[in-house]
Amino acid sequence: MRKRLLAGNWKMNKSIAELSSFFESFSKELANEKRENVEVLFAAPYLQLAEANKLASSLGIKIASQNVHFEESGAYTGEVSIGMLKEIGVNATLIGHSERRQYFGETDESVSKKVEVCLKSGMTPIACVGETKEDRESNKTEEVLKTQIDAIISKLDDIGDLVVAYEPVWAIGTGLTASNEQAQQAHAFIRSLFTEKYGKEVSSKLRILYGGSAKPSNIEGLLEQPDIDGGLVGGASLKPADFAEMVKKAL
Ligand code: PEP
Repeated sequence: MRKRLLAGNWKMNKSIAELSSFFESFSKELANEKRENVEVLFAAPYLQLAEANKLASSLGIKIASQNVHFEESGAYTGEVSIGMLKEIGVNATLIGHSERRQYFGETDESVSKKVEVCLKSGMTPIACVGETKEDRESNKTEEVLKTQIDAIISKLDDIGDLVVAYEPVWAIGTGLTASNEQAQQAHAFIRSLFTEKYGKEVSSKLRILYGGSAKPSNIEGLLEQPDIDGGLVGGASLKPADFAEMVKKAL
């Protein structure tokens, strides 16, 4: 049985000063709920991580970074290493979000290196994959997903606690959500790629999250799909009441 994971991605939003009222409202919304069967995580900007982690850990909420560098240290101006994140208690990170791929030159190769070193260092990677609108319209969704997943698993003998987020690029921040069927089809395809390489026992434990304009009104239908194990949520994770409602629906 895979434990559901609802992960918020704050992107470049929220100041340190806003964090305590955010977590206060969020935990109030969920005060009467038993949350042990759903994991909740927020991916915060680097500067917010330490404070967010301090506030969230007592609430049983995990904090992740939105990126990480694959080298341990050195002349990589502007970058942050796994060791630096672990030093402040952050043990998970997004990798290869489509905005990193689109605006900051993240490639399948760098994503693959990052996932590999995260797994070796005890850091949970949430690796993001997804097709563009053009890919989907030219029936290349599976081809693109296969290329992205192959790059991620090419160097991995063991997938450890890797999490995959399927995020169709055309659905991120656009208000367009993949239909339940489209999302399920992509998730099942991704899982089949892991089955091919690692066998059914391993692939049946892999958590695959859906991301792309997920919100309180559509999360239930998505979570009902057999291969969807949670969500990576941008916009709707900024509002404590909305995200708490999504968590309630995942319980
Ligand atoms: C995301 O940032 O990963 C995302 C899915 O954003 P949104 O939910 O706003 O589409």
